[in-house]
Amino acid sequence: MELFELSAKEIADGVRTKKFSAAEVTKSCLGRLRAYEGDLNACITVIEDSSLETAAKVDASVARGESVGLLAGVPYIAKDNFCTRGVRTTCSSRILENWVPTYSASAINYMNEAGAVLLAKSNLDEFAMGSSTENSIIGPTKNPRDMRRVPGGSSGGSAAAVAAGYCPVALGSDTGGSVRQPAAFCGIQGFKPSYGEVSRYGVVAYASSLDQVSPLARSVEDIAIALEVLARPDPNDTTCDAYSRPKFTESLSMRDLKGKRIGVFAGFESDQIDSDLYGALAAASEHCKAAGAVIEPIDLPIAVKYGVATYYVTALADASSQLACYDGIRYGAHKDGKTLADMYANTRTESFGEEVRRRIILGAALLTEGFYQNYYGPALKVRTKMMEEFDALFGRLDAYLLPTSPSMPYLFGTKEEDPTRLYLGDVFTVPISLGGLPGISISMGLTSEGLPLSVQLVGQRYEDAKLIGIASVIERIVGKPGVATPKKIDGEGKRV
Ligand code: GLN
Repeated sequence: MELFELSAKEIADGVRTKKFSAAEVTKSCLGRLRAYEGDLNACITVIEDSSLETAAKVDASVARGESVGLLAGVPYIAKDNFCTRGVRTTCSSRILENWVPTYSASAINYMNEAGAVLLAKSNLDEFAMGSSTENSIIGPTKNPRDMRRVPGGSSGGSAAAVAAGYCPVALGSDTGGSVRQPAAFCGIQGFKPSYGEVSRYGVVAYASSLDQVSPLARSVEDIAIALEVLARPDPNDTTCDAYSRPKFTESLSMRDLKGKRIGVFAGFESDQIDSDLYGALAAASEHCKAAGAVIEPIDLPIAVKYGVATYYVTALADASSQLACYDGIRYGAHKDGKTLADMYANTRTESFGEEVRRRIILGAALLTEGFYQNYYGPALKVRTKMMEEFDALFGRLDAYLLPTSPSMPYLFGTKEEDPTRLYLGDVFTVPISLGGLPGISISMGLTSEGLPLSVQLVGQRYEDAKLIGIASVIERIVGKPGVATPKKIDGEGKRV
């Protein structure tokens, strides 16, 4: 087994006990990255020198007999919307193409304090708006399980990196599915914590009432370790709750699901989602039953019917005000104009991509007087109704299963022409975000063609630890996802 194939837990244990060094692991992961990055395009910036220096520091601490953190010597990659001091942070946008932050996001600081080694900043849809990682200044990221297909998004670079073995764990941000869906598309585990569980300080905002820092990994155990490092109160983010977090890794001792009640979403016709994914949902439900859970079919009439519309109204309104700070003066790109208004218009028109412009314009329109009353106000009310629907369910359920995405990872060029089709792909992830609930996309293995199957498990707000326990029981039955070996595509579009 190569070092790049190890989990974060195995790496940290090995570094701590001097089985191998952080430098060796970092070199192995960087080697993997170099071997496939030309094909996958998962990273915007690779920080090879500084990662080797960080690894050397970890090794020096170990040699001095000092106690090292939970992620000692573990290479990781962060989505390029996490501020990193001294390392440019582009959000995949021309407007921030050369922007170098003077501070790091809290999540980055916590990872570094725990001994993790930042290797690179990963590709994303511009400002995290999208579901395929196609809208990027560096071009699309490829899916390592099948390079003819999208990796999902917007954290597609982070998901592809973990699946391809660049690193065992990566950071993404999930506003309406941007970690769960790419995790599903790339065949790994992706966890969106409850809103307020992890500090958003220093993560460039898309929609602040929904954004949440979210880890991706090839095992639930690594997700639990990352969460233990990331989830803590932070005075720099007032939406990050002050309650003291449980030890997430303790949940991994859950052996079965006896005494648990798990809902299984049954509110659709089987042909409304891809048949393989319908099969994966049924299989996950069987596994829970076999592990001792009581299964109950559930419906989510408000969440599924109104989720996408409510989410896009809420998120775009949020986004239009959040992205107002890119005015050509304070950050990033600047284009001259005769008047101040011309300067704003020139800067923003030339430096934001098409999808971001569309969303800013829609969001700004939604916040004008008449539209506010007709759309934004009602969206807030529907969001409250949706939360009541979730609360009623959690009165009797511990968690519930539903698909992460209605579709399998699709071929390049088949969806991006029509934005509404892309938005509808978020039907099962956005309601969970609107409810502030924790959700994890769990790998359900591969189809006979090697395409990833997945299921989404959702829990009550702040019951992240319980959700991790249940997910670990399912993972023990299904098996952990392995590292993908990206295959090249021949002239006829076949994998070779
Ligand atoms: N696909 C959704 C959107 O475009 C979710 C994105 C995200 O979670 N950042 O808004």
